[in-house]
Amino acid sequence: MTQPRRVILLGSTGSIGESTIEVVRNLQAVPGQECQLVGLAAGSRADRLLEQAGEFGVRDIAVANEAKARDIAFDGTLHVGAESARELVESVAQPGDLVVAAIVGSAGIDAVLAAIDAGCDIALANKETLVAAGALVMPRVVERGVNLIPVDSEHSAIFQCLHGVSKEAEIRRLVITASGGPFRGRAREAVREATPEQALDHPTWSMGPKITIDSASMMNKALEVIEAHWLFDVPADKIDVIVHPQSIVHSFVEFVDGSVLAQLGPPDMKTPIQCAMTWPDRVEGCSKRLNWEELRSLVFEPLDHEAFPAVMRALDVIRRGGTTGAIFNAANEVAVEAFLDRRVSFGAIVDLVSAAIEAIPSKPVTALADIVEADTAARAFVASEIAAGNGLENVVTSGTSGTD
Ligand code: NDP
Ligand code: MG
Repeated sequence: MTQPRRVILLGSTGSIGESTIEVVRNLQAVPGQECQLVGLAAGSRADRLLEQAGEFGVRDIAVANEAKARDIAFDGTLHVGAESARELVESVAQPGDLVVAAIVGSAGIDAVLAAIDAGCDIALANKETLVAAGALVMPRVVERGVNLIPVDSEHSAIFQCLHGVSKEAEIRRLVITASGGPFRGRAREAVREATPEQALDHPTWSMGPKITIDSASMMNKALEVIEAHWLFDVPADKIDVIVHPQSIVHSFVEFVDGSVLAQLGPPDMKTPIQCAMTWPDRVEGCSKRLNWEELRSLVFEPLDHEAFPAVMRALDVIRRGGTTGAIFNAANEVAVEAFLDRRVSFGAIVDLVSAAIEAIPSKPVTALADIVEADTAARAFVASEIAAGNGLENVVTSGTSGTD
């Protein structure tokens, strides 16, 4: 009998983490696809992490938040602190293991690099890793001969459509679909005034708070455009975004001969997670199915770049290269946090990110230190802009609940 595949799940307590746990449970019932969770990492939700470790008999866990880790009684190896996910990978990972990277933000970069160095395959949900550090990650994947398979639904779609395509010259363009988020159809000024409650109310996807805000600002699509550039090695002028409110067509690839391939499915992340975990095999899934009886129409419309300027900024980030991606990502992370704390307006998010990429010079990326330096500079820049009162227009301080 073949051994179950060893899996390390980083970000196990989040939205993708919990969906991955469901997929792991599903795969236990599929002969030849059994998984053994051998490491789990989380940020603060230590109680849930312990439950997961208990259910799957995991002996090695990591908790980033030191205060939350203090009271943990765990009969195994517990890594604690900001470096804990990377330490977990370094101590547990073996060549051929699968690491599911589902930490949110640039906090996930280190652990992904460590996993590649350890010879692990990566199922990558953490898009910020490629946005900030694609220049380091992609060459290292090739050098170490590991597989990096996207989990982000749009990139999973493109990955599946590109299966068997070896020449970039055959691709006319990649078309990334966007739900349009809760503010689709709103004019620029109305979008800029949105409250956190309105921005957190996503029409089609249920996700963690940071990516939900990114979806409302279209920053998620911006990050995905940069992610696609790194994953599929295509230039900015071959990447487009189109709004598709039902989130059923997850993306398209247009080929030079006029053929267009798309991948469809209901908006359920368990499908791309399982696809990444079993690739190139396909086995019985545990996500919702498309109901063709109910499906009547699929709507597509152009993105309103005036109301949502983030995607244009992203194309510019690709063209500028170097550490611009790290600056773009870190500035956004700080701005989103400030928006959720009601310290800046919704419209200020993209303004602060744009100001950061103009103010901080881009440098070539040769080592992780270049990314860390750019990330730190961008965080300091945005924090000082906020402290100076920039980005405060239309900040909503009341707790009115948002219905879109
Ligand atoms: P969540 O906020 O739901 O979960 C984030 C996870 O990361 C949690 O387990 C959290 O732990 C953990 N975490 C946060 N900071 C650290 C840290 N410093 N060290 C270790 N673990 C940490 O986010 P999502 O699951 O929604 O998203 C995860 C990633 O996947 C993001 O990069 C997102 O862009 C991407 N993604 C998500 C999709 C979705 O549908 N949700 C779709 C496509 C991509 P804790 O909760 O315990 O603090
Ligand atoms: Mg996506």
